Amino acid sequence: MDFLSGFVAIIGPPNSGKSTLLNRFLGQKVAITSPKPQTTRNRILGVHNGDGYQIAFVDTPGIHRTRSRLHKSMVSSAKASLQEVDIILLVVGLGEAGHRDEVIDVVRLLKKTARPVLLAINKIDLIKKENLLPLIESYDTLGCFDSIIPLSALYGDGVEILREELRKRLSAGPQFFPPDMVTDKSKGFLIAEVIREKIYYATRGELPYSSAVVVEEIEDDKKRNLLKVRAVIYVEKASQRGIILGKGGSLIKTIGKNARLDLERMFSAKVYLELFVKVEKNWTRDSRSLRKLGY
Ligand code: GDP
Ligand code: MG
Repeated sequence: MDFLSGFVAIIGPPNSGKSTLLNRFLGQKVAITSPKPQTTRNRILGVHNGDGYQIAFVDTPGIHRTRSRLHKSMVSSAKASLQEVDIILLVVGLGEAGHRDEVIDVVRLLKKTARPVLLAINKIDLIKKENLLPLIESYDTLGCFDSIIPLSALYGDGVEILREELRKRLSAGPQFFPPDMVTDKSKGFLIAEVIREKIYYATRGELPYSSAVVVEEIEDDKKRNLLKVRAVIYVEKASQRGIILGKGGSLIKTIGKNARLDLERMFSAKVYLELFVKVEKNWTRDSRSLRKLGY
């Protein structure tokens, strides 16, 4: 039988549980690599290796911003990103009003793609069974999804069904990534990505593309199961530094805390995270450790 592979875009509003789902999916085998040529616009979040198949989960820049104020350029960049993937996985949670209104613009965009679109309704552990069916129906009426999978990323219910739904939509293709790529280099990459994401959420995407996160030092204290990380957020203007720091340094504190919590879950270790913000006009763009901020 042919080896099956595919790129899956994982998208959805903040807090819907994308990271949790990804971690659950990847288990301990978090494999983060630098993007391959196949994904010029998208960044690889992780690679799942199954029996005879491989799924590369990617983040699609631009798509997160399609909510409200739809700029033409953003829509076209989101569309271009989506063209590079094989399957789209939209993850929604059960926010107060549900995430349905939040994703409506994205749904409009997804309707136009020829790719299969799966919807994961996450956090079903928080909802009564009788309330689930109407919720599924309300998403179904949008006429966008090839499959709707209710699940709980936190507890694992439904995740196997999602795995199967994804697997059966893969096509014959190469193993894009070696099955085991967990190295210290990828650790730095992963940490930078997490910090980047938290900055993005905390600043509501206000920061420009010219910002970057550099992980300068990782000290892995295996005896104490402690990961000590020092990272620098580079910005180009003092005003941007102010945005990241927030009032009395409150925002950087939040960013650091949220990043630390994610990292502790990811590495199953205690994480000690030191974050600095530096203003530097022309930080080196070619360093591999630099990750551009803009989605
Ligand atoms: P992201 O912003 O989409 O990456 O969301 P996260 O994965 O960071 O999750 C946001 C919050 O929702 C975290 O506090 C998670 O623990 C929580 N969460 C994620 N999945 C579930 C779930 O299935 N059930 C419940 N009760 N909480 C969840
Ligand atoms: Mg996340």
